[in-house]
Amino acid sequence: MKTKNLSIKIVIALVLGITVGSICNIYAQSNIVGWTDQYIFNVIGQIFLNLIFMLVVPVVFVSIVLGVVGVGDPKLLGGIGLKALTFFLSTTALAITIGIALALLFKPGAGHSDLLKSEDVNKYEQTLKEQNSAEDSAANQTFDQTLINLFPKNPIQAMTEGNMLQIITFAIFIGVGLIMVGSKAEVVNRFFLQTNEVLMYIITMIMNVFAPIGTFALVAHAFTGAGFGAIKQLGMYFFIVLLALAVHFFVVYGSAVKLLGKYSPMNFFKAFMPAITVGFSTSSSTATLPVSMNCTKKMGVRPEIASFIQPLGATINMDGTAIMQGVATIFIAQISGVDLSLGQLITVVVIAVVASIGTAGVPGVGLIMLAMVLNAVGLNAAAIGIILGIDRLLDMTRTSVNITGDAACALIVSESEQRKLNKRALPKQNANA
Ligand code: ASP
Repeated sequence: MKTKNLSIKIVIALVLGITVGSICNIYAQSNIVGWTDQYIFNVIGQIFLNLIFMLVVPVVFVSIVLGVVGVGDPKLLGGIGLKALTFFLSTTALAITIGIALALLFKPGAGHSDLLKSEDVNKYEQTLKEQNSAEDSAANQTFDQTLINLFPKNPIQAMTEGNMLQIITFAIFIGVGLIMVGSKAEVVNRFFLQTNEVLMYIITMIMNVFAPIGTFALVAHAFTGAGFGAIKQLGMYFFIVLLALAVHFFVVYGSAVKLLGKYSPMNFFKAFMPAITVGFSTSSSTATLPVSMNCTKKMGVRPEIASFIQPLGATINMDGTAIMQGVATIFIAQISGVDLSLGQLITVVVIAVVASIGTAGVPGVGLIMLAMVLNAVGLNAAAIGIILGIDRLLDMTRTSVNITGDAACALIVSESEQRKLNKRALPKQNANA
């Protein structure tokens, strides 16, 4: 894949999609626009989305197995996992803190108490009731249940359900098994390597052929249906979320990549551009995984590290989501006339870290998990209905931030583990895992 050309094409598609979608939004009532949106933008966009979703489970599974085998030493793997978790948790806590600080400074909810009386709040109350009666609502799971659910009873079922954490657990076990069995499992080892080659070829092909048109269609569809009217009313909230995302993206990731990863931030953002645009157009960290792992490997991140850290990050590390949750909580507190104490603000940080870990990397889940944060500080979760209308656009942006955090982590851990990984004897067939 000629990354540079492809990146340019995708960025052009993105700009065109935003422009065409915004124009269509003005004429959304017209039949022609409705038809074009439903049968052209939506169909092409969904096909593109399905094509990349089709690869997610096999790519995540095979990559993690190869990643574990590539590291070659369970102890080393533990160290890598620990470093990644430390990076994930600290950047997420920092992200919410930035969101909260900016929201407290700019007061997006001040003088908007009338929003609480809107019809959207009643409607969302109903949604919450339905969610509560659905047993498997992620926001309702207790800690012990979450822990138990990390381990799949049936790995095939985990794959058909796309349960990422269970797939990751199973893949780690298979990887460790392969290391321990060694040369006796050479054929299985080679099978994974060759499957990986095939999957990487398919990703490259899909990206080259479909990414520009698919990106255009998805973005045009999202903008045609976007609630711009609501943005006017919720403009300040919208702006603060974007501002906090931008600060986190450029300042936090930029300096982490430079100082800890010893890599030029400009080159990092440029090389990661194809993944950023796919994240933006699909609003799904999980769907973007095949592309984002491809990008970091091209940056020189060790393949065994990228293969292990990025799928984990796409499942549990959501800095952009945490930012939205922090700003939204302060916004809802302000329109409700509630002054949160320092203790409550700390609770928001802690619960939002947990909520963002529990957020699946698919569109819109971050908002559902926001209920958990609001409940923790006694705010009315039905107020989520107010920001629901503009969340699609914010979801696109925060997903790009979410996946960039995973890539930054992979780059940094790869840099810091370089020496240890070079020292250990690498099974030669895993050199390009
Ligand atoms: N769409 C986000 C992601 O996939 C999750 C969310 O915030 O809704 O990363």
